[in-house]
Amino acid sequence: MASVEAPAAESQALRSGYLFTILWIDLVPLWIEPLTGHLMHHRTFRNGTFAALILTVLAMLPPPAWAVWREKTEAIMGTRIYVEVWADDAAKGDAAIAAVMADMTRIDELMSHYKPESQLSRINARAAQEPVQVDPELFNLIKRSLYFSKITDGAFDITYASVGHLYNFPEHIRPTEAQIKSALPAVDYRNLLLDPVHYTVRFEHPGMRIDLGGIGKGYAVDHGIDILKARGIQHAVVTAGGDTRIIGDHMGRPWVVGIRHPDDKNKVVTRIPLIDTAMSTSGDYERYFDENGIRYHHIIDPHTGHSASKVRSATILGPTATETDGMSKTAFVLGPQKALEIINRFPQYDAVFVCPDGKVLYSNGLQPPDKVAAPTAPSARGQR
Ligand code: ADP
Ligand code: MG
Repeated sequence: MASVEAPAAESQALRSGYLFTILWIDLVPLWIEPLTGHLMHHRTFRNGTFAALILTVLAMLPPPAWAVWREKTEAIMGTRIYVEVWADDAAKGDAAIAAVMADMTRIDELMSHYKPESQLSRINARAAQEPVQVDPELFNLIKRSLYFSKITDGAFDITYASVGHLYNFPEHIRPTEAQIKSALPAVDYRNLLLDPVHYTVRFEHPGMRIDLGGIGKGYAVDHGIDILKARGIQHAVVTAGGDTRIIGDHMGRPWVVGIRHPDDKNKVVTRIPLIDTAMSTSGDYERYFDENGIRYHHIIDPHTGHSASKVRSATILGPTATETDGMSKTAFVLGPQKALEIINRFPQYDAVFVCPDGKVLYSNGLQPPDKVAAPTAPSARGQR
């Protein structure tokens, strides 16, 4: 894949071998403590007169422009968007965050299958009858989705929506077996025809639908990071639902991202320190309902039309959120055995699975060196 970048050296170092040595250090609060201690205990401040003199001099100087952390949370794309940046000053930070939020709204208006006026909804309404022309940006993301389908043998497939639309999780609605059987032939990425000259999309099977819920947030996160970089921001985190991308570090230390417990959103099963990395989690606890002991949830196996059930959550780490978003569905559908076989061949990706029995499984890049099995397949470095 041409657009796969080499992972940054730092994230590679963090995620290889000795990750577990630093995994449990509570990294974030440490930077606050030494600074506070210094101000409280420094001898200069015990001398009242001298301190008053310094304060008077400081008060006479023009206010300095401080580099600051700024953050904001908004609800866009039907999910929680969180952006935090380190900026030269508060105004620049806030403007950068506002630009990312505006871009997320723009992407949602273009690609949401919930919005009847979006270009994606136009495809679903008309592409079975005629080729539908769309913006190159949407076209390219659909093309990217097809690429993921090809390399995963259809475990990731945006045409899953041909069956997926029959589920309504908040309303506890699911299709009958007969409905699944009649809708399933329309699930096949090979019937999604793209014309790269005219930027048109066509369905070659009646009843086909697509939705970009499995890749659009990752794409929007990457686009948000591009916007921040273009504004000179070098330290930031952008999150959309289960998709996150981090650039730079947090005050000289890694960011620490937790993977939640599938049954308790306040519990964390593992924490991972990250620098310059994207991370996506797909879980069976995001949109679901339970009926007769069976969980019906939003990650659908395109080959069966049913919710996939090999794991409770699948997390992927990699260079970009578009990739990790697409791959987290794939890993969820394939299950840990097959998915780890593939991921362990690619040094730029890592994975964490939470299994139905509560076990947590890690790819080789997240294992302590003595637990890493001898490779069974040749390294894939340079193959893509
Ligand atoms: P989030 O939306 O919180 O980022 P996920 O990344 O796990 O959560 O994406 C889940 C969404 O992916 C579903 O709501 C659906 O739109 C889409 N989806 C579900 N199954 C598949 C699949 N097999 N292939 C492609 N997309 C899928
Ligand atoms: Mg996602």
